[in-house]
Amino acid sequence: MQKYDYLIVGTGLFGSVFAFEMKKAGKKCFAIDRRSHLGGNIYTEKVKDIQVHQYGAHIFHTSDKKIWDYVNQFAEFNQYINSPVAIYGDELYNLPFNMNTFSKMWGIRTPAEAKGIIETQRMDAKRAMEERNVSEPGNLEEQALSLVGRDIYEKLIKGYTQKQWGRECDQLPAFIIKRLPVRFTYDNNYFTDRYQGIPIGGYTQIIEKLLEGTPVRLGVEYRDFLKENASKGEDADVFGKVLYTGMIDEYFDYCLGELQYRSLRFETELLEGCDNYQGNAVVNYTEQKVPYTRIIEHKHFEFGTGPDTVITREYPAEWKKGDEPYYPINDERNNELFRRYQELAAGEPGILFGGRLGQYRYYDMDKVIGAALSMVSDELKG
Ligand code: UDP
Repeated sequence: MQKYDYLIVGTGLFGSVFAFEMKKAGKKCFAIDRRSHLGGNIYTEKVKDIQVHQYGAHIFHTSDKKIWDYVNQFAEFNQYINSPVAIYGDELYNLPFNMNTFSKMWGIRTPAEAKGIIETQRMDAKRAMEERNVSEPGNLEEQALSLVGRDIYEKLIKGYTQKQWGRECDQLPAFIIKRLPVRFTYDNNYFTDRYQGIPIGGYTQIIEKLLEGTPVRLGVEYRDFLKENASKGEDADVFGKVLYTGMIDEYFDYCLGELQYRSLRFETELLEGCDNYQGNAVVNYTEQKVPYTRIIEHKHFEFGTGPDTVITREYPAEWKKGDEPYYPINDERNNELFRRYQELAAGEPGILFGGRLGQYRYYDMDKVIGAALSMVSDELKG
């Protein structure tokens, strides 16, 4: 029999940061994962010298120097700046929405011209809202129209968003689009954060370092692990608390109903002899009729110069039980259901919930690290 302070369910970024910090504080953790590899969705795997992001592009960005310094303990980051390109029919635009986009869209050059066009279109959107007696944008469509106007919305937002979320834009929360900046400079940097980059050598090494010294079992379901452990009788290991980073509704056997998630299907292809397929790491396909949302060419995350390339087409999919959940759908119905699951969780003092799935939040990696660090400090305060 072994005694552990924590059983960590899920070896993604949240669980691994938690394990690292707890180990530093002298606590003993044991980690399990249902997948056959560490790292959850930030897992990367080397194919022909290219780090392939197996679960979609992960670009680290943060404005928080403490988090940036923290993650730099575990890997050296390169100077990658995310500058996606969007394809709509045979037109190609720079993202995020900036002077390059506006210039291409309307054949203009100056910020004053762009502002003039956008302002006119925003006013149209405002008037349409007033006619419906709406003062603030209440959904993604209204938010987008009052931010950038109809031209950009129709070509670069509508189809992409509907594909990604499987819902009409007027049925989606406005906050999703607030992630996208609008700039009147010729600046294609997608993120506004001060620090940004890709870990040289991939993300998996970060997780391996975070979990150094923590025993891990892969390929095992939480419930099977508990059963198996209990069957050892007096020899069973003892865990003080459980940190669960899987889906909170699954943990509670969906007893209050199912939370909704968006899933993804990835089609990855090794193109031998093709050294540069699309000239950019991320190319978005914003038309509704193209079934994928983006193509990632992984080598460009690390400025690869080898003779081959690996690309991944990303197809959004409706989530159903048994699929991998990627995005929580934070609309009112789901947020309310999540609050009710949280109340259930509060009644079980021995269990903590963390990460995108445990906390049902559309978290970026820096926020995941921040949340894990603050959970650790709350725990250590007792
Ligand atoms: N978005 C869009 N067009 C694009 C890229 C993004 O309309 O070409 C919107 C869309 O609503 C999406 C949101 O911005 O849901 C966030 O997209 P992002 O690619 O940043 O999300 P990720 O999947 O990388 O978290």
